[in-house]
Amino acid sequence: MDFFNTEDKCKAAIAQQRWGEGNAVCPYCGGTHTHMCKDGRYICKDCQRKFSVTVGTIFENTKISLRKWFLVMYKVASTKKGVSSHQLARDIKVTQKTAWFILHKVRGLYGITDEIELDGEVEMDEMYLGGRETNKHDSKRTAGTQGRSTKTKTPIFGMLQRDGKAVIMKVEDTKGATLMPIVGQFVKEGATTYTDELSAYNKLDENGYNHLFVNHGKREFVRCKDIHTNGIEGFWAHFKRVIFSTYHCVSKDYVQRYIDEQMYRWNTREEKSSYRFHDMFVKACKHFDYSDVLSLSTVVDTEYRTFKLKVYYAWYSHKVA
Ligand SMILES: [Zn+2]
Repeated sequence: MDFFNTEDKCKAAIAQQRWGEGNAVCPYCGGTHTHMCKDGRYICKDCQRKFSVTVGTIFENTKISLRKWFLVMYKVASTKKGVSSHQLARDIKVTQKTAWFILHKVRGLYGITDEIELDGEVEMDEMYLGGRETNKHDSKRTAGTQGRSTKTKTPIFGMLQRDGKAVIMKVEDTKGATLMPIVGQFVKEGATTYTDELSAYNKLDENGYNHLFVNHGKREFVRCKDIHTNGIEGFWAHFKRVIFSTYHCVSKDYVQRYIDEQMYRWNTREEKSSYRFHDMFVKACKHFDYSDVLSLSTVVDTEYRTFKLKVYYAWYSHKVA
């Protein structure tokens, strides 16, 4: 709050991050013959269009002050358990709806990166979020939802390298056909994998992994001293505490965003909050989403649009996958 205490300082930081010491780059024609006008916006001499420093970033067209955005990023970067929209609304004096919107934009910055590769000793496990039928009134219960049914519960799959990073994601179901391609994408062949006895993991051996498992069904939790999934189960325990204590309940559609947030915290747990803030800030400055792409239909220059579409498709196909 002391460092970014004016809008101008926030804008200067964004400009520095985007263009360094050079001229502002026009988002419409890519030209660099630009200069700043009196109102703080930029004008491009090549195409005569005006643009602001926030165009194409997470802050584009925002009505909230940049100081508040920066504060939210810092809060998300520095707390262990996350921030609820109700708490944030009180802290930065906006409505709960606005706070919810900002938080989701900020959470959208995380996402799973393809660069993550797990190796060595990797624990895998699945958990189910929500829909505990025993807590509901008889009239509201859904039939056939015991055990691993996904009618009312959201299955989440996790892979965690001991002393390393984790990849966690919402999945359609926990069948082998669903899980094996995900394992193939993120876990290096030849790694040693630890799981429970779920049959979905039967093919790990065939797929080139060393596979060891414990039989939870037989109340066996540690076999020999290293064969267990206590690491990933610790992650689940923390995740559930965060969901119930900070957010109380989570809509099925947004589960992945909360997962991304906790996964990001886990994967950067050795880093300082200042590192996380900077990392988020860098991503915020080159943010894009589907609505960005749609709003570009009015832009004449096709190259910039093609670039954005390419980036969007890469991002979208990853989300779908
Ligand atoms: Zn231009």
